[in-house]
Amino acid sequence: MVNPAPQAITILGSTGSIGESTLDVIGRNPGRYRVAALTANRNVDRLAAQCAQFGAGFAVIADTALAGKLSRALVETGSKARVLTGAEGLAEVATLPDVDIVMAAIVGAAGLAPTLRAAQAGKKILLANKEALVIAGHIFMQAARNGGACILPVDSEHSAIFQALPADFGKGLESVGVDRIILTASGGPFLDFPATELRDITPSQACKHPNWAMGRKISVDSATLMNKGLELIEAHWLFNAAPSQLEVLIHPQSIVHSMVAYRDGSVLAQLGTPDMRTPIAYALSWPERIDAGVERLHLAGMSDLSFREPDLQRFPCLGLAFDALREGASAPVTLNGANEIAVAAFLEKQIRFDQISRLVGEVMQATEKRAINCLEDVVECDAMARHKATQTMRTMI
Ligand code: NAD
Ligand code: MG
Repeated sequence: MVNPAPQAITILGSTGSIGESTLDVIGRNPGRYRVAALTANRNVDRLAAQCAQFGAGFAVIADTALAGKLSRALVETGSKARVLTGAEGLAEVATLPDVDIVMAAIVGAAGLAPTLRAAQAGKKILLANKEALVIAGHIFMQAARNGGACILPVDSEHSAIFQALPADFGKGLESVGVDRIILTASGGPFLDFPATELRDITPSQACKHPNWAMGRKISVDSATLMNKGLELIEAHWLFNAAPSQLEVLIHPQSIVHSMVAYRDGSVLAQLGTPDMRTPIAYALSWPERIDAGVERLHLAGMSDLSFREPDLQRFPCLGLAFDALREGASAPVTLNGANEIAVAAFLEKQIRFDQISRLVGEVMQATEKRAINCLEDVVECDAMARHKATQTMRTMI
């Protein structure tokens, strides 16, 4: 039998945690994928090294001022990649005619524009960038439908749900017998931390997740449980789930990655060693299964798989996200914009850990909800939320 031609892939955000894991999986499956383009925000050296190792055709640096530095680094590594820059460069490699797959692994709202272009161009999109869906779910899903794009979840919870749903779930959760979707959450590093000590947590403590190694922004989101809140909104759009069909359960071991409960009482779960290469590999090869380099799950050695309700008082961000999901329209955009500012300020040691949820809550309260009809509406509401968050922050410090 003749081997099929390798599938061409663009990785948006290749120097990040998801980007690196994606390249690791690709490297384990020679001949199956061809790296068309890799992109980074500012990490020139890592980008050049990746381009040389994987023979990328294009290298995109989002920060246009670093174009010259990237060209020199590519020469040094022996890579022949063509240099592109800025938003235009990202859009170009997300829509290249010969690209089959786009891994969307830029962090934050910055990932929306190129991912949306990939959706319009009908690519197979491996979606890690949850913020894009949180702020522009309706626009994004419609663009994917119109462009004929296929969206495959990379977030471990959504991959688990996707694996536990029947193939025809698109006709409606109720019609395929689903009662509810249960997202599991590890609870992050401060699940059982004394409540009085939460205010003094440092960025390095917050970025030390007990089960997962991730980028800094999502690590802080996991510690506040905002990550789970963003994932609720992500699940709403990916699976067309009503807020009443979505639940969160704390599961500190991160072995059960999420569950789908059916009308007849069955609950289907997906289990695995906590390693993002499993959901990345599944999205890459779906509906087939490929080697991901992940350690086998040894259930016999596990004495405890436990579950409990989340404590919304200790983790107000989860409650705020539930509210934004129920409110809809611009509320998730405001939630996300304020959170991005708050997390960046916390990482810069400008605000305390407990002030993240306070800041997001205050911005949500001070912002009137409005309709989101187009990308310009998203951009405007996002800018307004960031502006308000920056101003509110000044009253806190
Ligand atoms: P990261 O910070 O490790 O990497 C982010 C990548 O995006 C880097 O390549 C960086 O250069 C690029 N980038 C950052 N800002 C940019 C900008 N303004 N313009 C262009 N490129 C930019 O992040 P990560 O942990 O890999 O997460 C990436 C996305 O995947 C996030 O949306 C996150 O929520 C989601 N996700 C991550 C994990 C995980 O385990 N890390 C799990 C589930 C979902
Ligand atoms: Mg997740």
